[in-house]
Amino acid sequence: MADPRLILAIDHGTTSSRAILFDHDRAVAGVAQKEGALSYRQPGWVEQDATQAWLDTMAVVAQVLNETGTDPGQIAAIGISNQRETCLLWDAKTGLPVAPAIVWQSRQTADICDRWKADGLEPLVRERTGLRIDPYFSASKLAWLLENVPGARERAEAGELLFGTMDTWLVWKLTGGAAHVTDASNASRTLLCDIASTSWDEELLEAFGVPRCVLPRIVDTSGALAVTQPFAFFGAEVPICSIVGDQQAALFGQLCLEPGMAKNTYGTGGFLLMNTGGSIVRSNNGLLSTVAWRRDGRTTYALEGSVFVSGSLMKWLRDNLGLIEDVGETAAMAQRAGTSGGVFIVPAFVGLGAPFWDESARASILGLSLGTTHDQLVRAALESMAFQARDVLEAMEGDSGVPLQMLRVDGGAAANDFLLQFQADLCQIPVERFSLTELTALGAAYLAGLGCGFWAEGDLSAELERVFEPERPAPEMDRRYRQWIHAVDACRSFKP
Ligand code: ADP
Repeated sequence: MADPRLILAIDHGTTSSRAILFDHDRAVAGVAQKEGALSYRQPGWVEQDATQAWLDTMAVVAQVLNETGTDPGQIAAIGISNQRETCLLWDAKTGLPVAPAIVWQSRQTADICDRWKADGLEPLVRERTGLRIDPYFSASKLAWLLENVPGARERAEAGELLFGTMDTWLVWKLTGGAAHVTDASNASRTLLCDIASTSWDEELLEAFGVPRCVLPRIVDTSGALAVTQPFAFFGAEVPICSIVGDQQAALFGQLCLEPGMAKNTYGTGGFLLMNTGGSIVRSNNGLLSTVAWRRDGRTTYALEGSVFVSGSLMKWLRDNLGLIEDVGETAAMAQRAGTSGGVFIVPAFVGLGAPFWDESARASILGLSLGTTHDQLVRAALESMAFQARDVLEAMEGDSGVPLQMLRVDGGAAANDFLLQFQADLCQIPVERFSLTELTALGAAYLAGLGCGFWAEGDLSAELERVFEPERPAPEMDRRYRQWIHAVDACRSFKP
């Protein structure tokens, strides 16, 4: 067998599955990617075929191995990063999902959350999980499956069904059903985990009616976590050495390893995370306290603000309005517009996340005039991504008492120079972009490489491609920001 010399990162995103090989110098040796489909059976519902997600994962791994001529035996370890909160129930014997996976964005469990809030569970949830009761997190999705899939509750209680977020599902498949595990970062997003002890919380399980036997075992984020079953993984037994939620993976990939360091990912959603070290910082400003990673049993925490719709707004402009053909054109269009002409787009398609947490807010376009152009709408859409990041940054500064010195960025839309310059101007801080764009995968790879001794801590380094320095004056940008807040208020008070 060839010497193991590569780390395979599997990055299962909301809209795509990726497989990326990294060599010992942390260079990308190969990438394969496949777009996946989401389904929208009813307004507000977002679901995904989990079997298809597994097949897509296998397809991209096969492709990257074939295209690079890599023998599976050359893979020193696998690292998995995944979209968080998305979850499913499957049959423990057949491995068949009992229903589509419910995607993090879905609002189909709003009624269940209302019920839990009415039952007075919010304070307990906040104290134990650092989160809040919201359809975003997995617990209400699990409750929905148990309540709505015929026979699911009885079968779950009889030990016939298994629950998992996407990491758990992929590891279970990769190990031929041998490992039913999740890591502490993913567990912390379920609304079922006590983040102080990183273990399932019996009181919450009881309150939410979750049978203990459906839940995976919580393991470290990095280390010897599981091993692939040869029949399920191209004939090879490869150690799985990291499992990590995608946002935490990006925080690690951007080497925000010290308290106070922050990153924003402009992907389908927008995700701002700040490392808070070994202490859980409780938010007074609508942010979440969450597990960043657990290594050798020691937990590092983060403050997080999630924006539900960020880059996907550009897809909406492309697919639903036909305003653009390719999201790559949008930076030039925004530049050409000069200004947004007073237009604000508040992309509250599924309500508003941090720091507002308003399920009833409705997406709106405000400030239109007869002179509004197509380029101005595109610019307003990009600006909304930066405005939403400032909403979260301000809350973060308030909670931590630390003014942010700089922001590291990644995600598909971080390729947009206009957006990053506008972000730097709006927040009056440097915005740093890395040479490598696959930072989520890199984070999973780093954690896997550290977990199997392929890399030592000193091997990790950050190579910046460009730093966007603020160019516009602060008073002008503050004025624009106040207008944005008015626009947000308007779409929160709109009751159709
Ligand atoms: P995810 O991992 O959440 O599926 P990505 O990080 O790949 O998503 O980001 C893809 C998102 O970024 C898409 O919603 C797309 O519309 C948006 N996007 C990609 N490139 C650009 C760009 N140059 N300008 C603006 N938005 C972009």
